[in-house]
Amino acid sequence: MAKVIIIGAGGVGTVVAHKCAQNPEVFTEIVLASRTRSKCEAIARKIGNGRVTTDSVDADSVEQLVELFRRHKPDMVINVALPYQDLTIMDACLECGVNYLDTANYEPRDEAHFEYSWQWAYKEKFEKAGLTAILGCGFDPGVSGVFTAYAAKHYFSDMEYLDIVDCNAGDHGKAFATNFNPEINIREITQNGRYYQDGEWVTTGPLEFHKPLTYPNIGPRESYLLYHEELESLVKNYPSIKRARFWMTFGQEYLTHLRVIQDIGMARIDEVDYNGMKIVPLQFLKAVLPNPQDLGENYTGETSIGCRIEGLDKKGEHLTYYIYNNCSHHAAYLETGMQAVSYTTGVPAMIGAMMFLTGKWNKPGVHNVEEFDPDPFMEQLNKQGLPWHEEFNLDLEV
Ligand code: NDP
Repeated sequence: MAKVIIIGAGGVGTVVAHKCAQNPEVFTEIVLASRTRSKCEAIARKIGNGRVTTDSVDADSVEQLVELFRRHKPDMVINVALPYQDLTIMDACLECGVNYLDTANYEPRDEAHFEYSWQWAYKEKFEKAGLTAILGCGFDPGVSGVFTAYAAKHYFSDMEYLDIVDCNAGDHGKAFATNFNPEINIREITQNGRYYQDGEWVTTGPLEFHKPLTYPNIGPRESYLLYHEELESLVKNYPSIKRARFWMTFGQEYLTHLRVIQDIGMARIDEVDYNGMKIVPLQFLKAVLPNPQDLGENYTGETSIGCRIEGLDKKGEHLTYYIYNNCSHHAAYLETGMQAVSYTTGVPAMIGAMMFLTGKWNKPGVHNVEEFDPDPFMEQLNKQGLPWHEEFNLDLEV
């Protein structure tokens, strides 16, 4: 018997609501709350059977969140609103005794700055309150950390080189669209690249380093080195790692659009005056771009996200290892009405909540996913629509 509140009724929130509703033995009561209640109601109607009830909240306000939590008394909140709301939701959780899970680290609105320090600072408060906070439980971050923990538990004594590889080989038929919230997505891609090497962070220009990598069932795709938040926790939790990097594929057409958007100032996140009004160009751009939630219907192709790891196995011998999931946009759409990027984020968020609610990931404090036992989570990935595959002793290409 467990009650969850999902906050955020976007692409990811839609998938989380569907997947929680599919697992009634764990999620006996589901509330979907967001800024715009009508979006929650539309999702709840689609799921049907009265499985999901709805509410509204401005998650920038701790006061409103506290009222929401007092009204519903949930065991856990699944935060799939935007990264700006992480801290207000964590504050309200502490005030009301609610456990917490999210899929993206806190970001201040006025600076695209990705680090866990703000949320890790809540560790003692959550410990003292006896509450569990699970950070970064989407696919990447999320499954990427669970895959790494699984590799460490079962195969490696020392993981030395970790490359997280994220390919979207899908086609949505639009000239330019982002697969999740455009504001968050463009902030992430246009910042400097960064990777970890021998105890130091090395900074690169935005998308400066790239090379073709071969993805299963897809083939070679140009892959670009980005900074991604899970690198920070993974190198901390696995000190044997000498080098950790993150790669994501982009097509030429996408990059050309992105360059123009930046060149003409539309990727700016500071306020500008427009006819006496203050607007943030990137937020305005979001209003005119295709809505990521509407991409699913004609989306073909698949995503392939995984970890390529090199190091010493349990006997001290050299080992290369690749673990990945491929997810079809069309299959994700048929099941939930959303494309594979929302699907691959929402399914792990539901599984993370399931892990906590069934007592498998119950550990007071603030934790990244790799700090928990990966095995029950891996088992659920196979059952809940994200089956994974492994390859050993292969050329990792990285
Ligand atoms: P969307 O923009 O589609 O949805 C965000 C939702 O949050 C919207 O319903 C929005 O409401 C709601 N929201 C925004 N601000 C507030 C607020 N102040 N109070 C209440 N609700 C609010 O985003 P996505 O679904 O694509 O992404 C959701 C999250 O998932 C993001 O944090 C993103 O970074 C993360 N993500 C993580 C990934 C991973 O693998 N770890 C991959 C992809 C995404 P409204 O409809 O009114 O605007």
